[in-house]
Amino acid sequence: MKISKEQAKYRISFLRDEINKHNRRYYIDNQPSVSDFEFDLLMQELQTLELKFPQFSSEDSPTKKVGSDLTSSSEYGTSELVKSVNTDRPQEETPLSNLFRQIAHKYPMLSLSNTYDKEELISFNEKVERILGSKAEYVCELKIDGTAISLSYKNCRLVSAVTRGDGTVGDDVTENVKMTGAVPLEIPISSPVRNFEIRGEIYMPWDSFDLINQKREANEEQLFANPRNAAAGSLKLVDSSEVASRGLKLILYSIITDSPFFQSHLASLQWAKDCGFPVSEHTSLCSSIVDVIKYLEKWDLKRKELNFPTDGVVIKVNNIDYQNALGITSKFPRWATAFKFKAEQALTRLLSIDYQVGRTGAVTPVANLEPVILSGSTVRRASLHSSEQMKILDIHIGDMVFVEKGGEIIPKITGVEISQRDNSAITPQFPENCPDCGAELFKDSEEAKHFCPNSEQCPTQIKGRFLHFSGRKAMNILIGEATIEQMYRLGYLKRLPDLYKIDKDQLLKLEGWKERSADRFAESLRASLKTPFYKVLYALGIRYVGETTAKILANHFSNIDNISRASKEELLSVGDIGDIVADSILNYFSKETNISTIEEFREIGVKMSNEEIQNLVSERLKGMSFVVSGNFSVSREELKHLIEINSGKNISSVSSITTYLIAGERMGPSKLEKAKKLGVTIITEEDFFKLIK
Ligand code: NAD
Repeated sequence: MKISKEQAKYRISFLRDEINKHNRRYYIDNQPSVSDFEFDLLMQELQTLELKFPQFSSEDSPTKKVGSDLTSSSEYGTSELVKSVNTDRPQEETPLSNLFRQIAHKYPMLSLSNTYDKEELISFNEKVERILGSKAEYVCELKIDGTAISLSYKNCRLVSAVTRGDGTVGDDVTENVKMTGAVPLEIPISSPVRNFEIRGEIYMPWDSFDLINQKREANEEQLFANPRNAAAGSLKLVDSSEVASRGLKLILYSIITDSPFFQSHLASLQWAKDCGFPVSEHTSLCSSIVDVIKYLEKWDLKRKELNFPTDGVVIKVNNIDYQNALGITSKFPRWATAFKFKAEQALTRLLSIDYQVGRTGAVTPVANLEPVILSGSTVRRASLHSSEQMKILDIHIGDMVFVEKGGEIIPKITGVEISQRDNSAITPQFPENCPDCGAELFKDSEEAKHFCPNSEQCPTQIKGRFLHFSGRKAMNILIGEATIEQMYRLGYLKRLPDLYKIDKDQLLKLEGWKERSADRFAESLRASLKTPFYKVLYALGIRYVGETTAKILANHFSNIDNISRASKEELLSVGDIGDIVADSILNYFSKETNISTIEEFREIGVKMSNEEIQNLVSERLKGMSFVVSGNFSVSREELKHLIEINSGKNISSVSSITTYLIAGERMGPSKLEKAKKLGVTIITEEDFFKLIK
C-alpha cells in the first residue's frame, strides 16, 4: 500500500507510542495486553516504515532500544497481578519496591532479533556466511520464557545479580536471586576463569506456577497471567523470603570474560556446567541450517512435554571469533537470532458476541465460545478487539474459530475455519448505540474502535471511573465493584468527588455494611488524601495516561495547573509523551466538567502538586531542566529531589531543551552522545552542587 510522507510520520509516531505502551505493560507492569506475535507485527511495521522514511528515524525509537524493565520507571511494579477475583476485598499484596539499587552493566545486555518464518532463518544464515566468508556452525538452545539476569563473579564469588533493565543499567536483585538457591554463590577456586559475567533466564516452572495460582485462588487473590509475568514479578518482590517460596529456577546460557578465553560457545557452556551452574540439557550443536530447522521442528512439538515455558529457539554462531567478527547492533547481536513458536491454538464454535463498554467508553466485542481446552485451561470467552477486526476475520456467529492465548488474560480469536461454515451462520451486527446507555456510538479513526460519547451519564463508564479511581495503584480506597454498583444504584455516585461526600448514614444503608466497614471506608478515604500527586493524576483516568505516564508528567510539570496549561509542544517535549497521549491530555483539560472535578478535589484536600515542590528551598534552578544519569556519591533520587526543591525540573531523556546533563560514573553512552550532539551542557556532580550552593 502506498503511503504519503505525512501519513508515514503519523503512523510512525502512533506505532512508537503503541510499542512504548506495550513495552511498559510487558516489562514493568508485567501485564501485557497483546500477544507477542501482535507486538512483533507492530515492531516489524515500524522497522519497515523507518527504513522507507529515514527522515523520521530516531535514536529514541523502540526499534533501536531494548525494552526496559527498570522498576524506577514505574511507581510500583505491583501489577504483577492480573485477574481480579474479588475486588471488594481489601488489597493486601505487598507492593513491589521501586527502590532497587541500579547497577550499570559492564557489557550491554541486548535483545535478540526474531522471526516466525523459516525462510527468514535461511536468509539469516546466508547473511552470516556472506559476512564470514565461510560456513558457520550453530548452537541451538531453547528460548526460555522468563526474565533475563546477569550474574557477576569476582574471584570466583557471586557479587551481584542484575536484571536487564534498559540494557545499560539494571535493577540489583542479588538478594532475591540468592534466595532462589539456584546459583552457586562460589565456584571452585581451581577454575581458570575467576572473574566473569554469566547470563541466563530466571523462570517459573509450570508446576510452581499452577501451585501458586491455586493458592491465590483459594485466598481470593488475583492470579498471575502466565509464568513469565510470575517470574519477573517475583524477582522484584521486596520480601526476599517470599521469593524463596515462589519456586523460581535459572538456566544460564552466556559467559562473558574480559579477555577471550573460550573458543566456542559450546565450550563455555561446558565450563559453566562443570562449575555447577544450571545449563540446559537440551542444547544442541548443528553443523548446518538444515539441522537447525530440524531442531526447531522437533522442539515445536516436544516443548509441550517440558515443565517450563518456552517461546522459541535461540540460534547462536558457535565460534567465538566468528561472533566477534559479526559484532552487535545497538539492540541485537548479529551472531544470534530467535525463532519464535506461534502460540498454541484451539478450534471451537462461536456461540454469540457481547459488546462490552469500558471505563473510557470503548466498546469491545467479546465472543462467547463453546468451552475448549487451550494450554491447560478451559476457554469460554475471547476478545474480538473491534468491528474492524471482526470484518478482517469475516466472522459469523456459528463459525468454527481459532482461539489463541498470547500474553493477554483473555484469549483472542485469530481466524475462522471457513470450510466448516454452514448456512445457519449469521453475520454479526456491531451495535450503533451504546449497549448500556443507548447513546449513538462514534468510531475513533486512530484506534478503529467504537466509543460511547456519553462519558458523563453512561452508567458503565461512571462506575468504571470510580473503580479505577479507588484502585490500589490509584487512591487505594477500600471499595470494590459490588459496592460501587450499590452506591451508584442508590444515587451516591455521579462525579468522582462524590465519593468524599458519602456520610455514615448512607453507608449503613448499603447491603452488608456495618459500623466497622463504614469506619474502615472513611479511614481509607482520609488516608487517600495523602496519595502523592502522580497517583492522583493516574487516578483521574485521563485516557492513555497510565501509571508511568502520570509519573513522568508529575515529575516534569510538578502540579496539575502546569499540566492543564501546557501546550501540545510542551507536552511533546517531555520524554515518552507522543502525539496521541498529548492530544488526549489536551482534550481532558478542555472540558469544563474535568476542570471543576479538579477544583472540587483541591477543596477536599486531594494532592494536586508534588509534595517536594511545596517545600522549596530556593529558586536557583528555576527554568532549568536536568537529566541525571550514571552513579553518584548520593542516590539519583536524592539528586533529583535537590533539583526539585531548588525549582529545577527533572526530565528523563536528553533533548534540545535540556539545560544540563549531570553525568555520573558509568552513565549510559547513548545519553552522553546525544547530549554532545545537541550541544547540551554536561556537568559533574561537583558542578551541580556548586550551582545550588
Ligand atoms: P526476546 O524475548 O525476543 O529475546 C531476548 C531474550 O530472550 C533475552 O533477553 C533473554 O532474556 C531471552 N532468552 C531466553 N532463552 C535464551 C537463550 N537460550 N539465549 C539467549 N537469550 C535467551 O527479546 P526481548 O527484548 O526480551 O523482548 C522482545 C520480545 O518480547 C518481543 O519480540 C515480544 O515478543 C515480547 N514483548 C511482548 C510485548 C507484549 O505486549 N506482548 C511487549 C514487549 C515485548
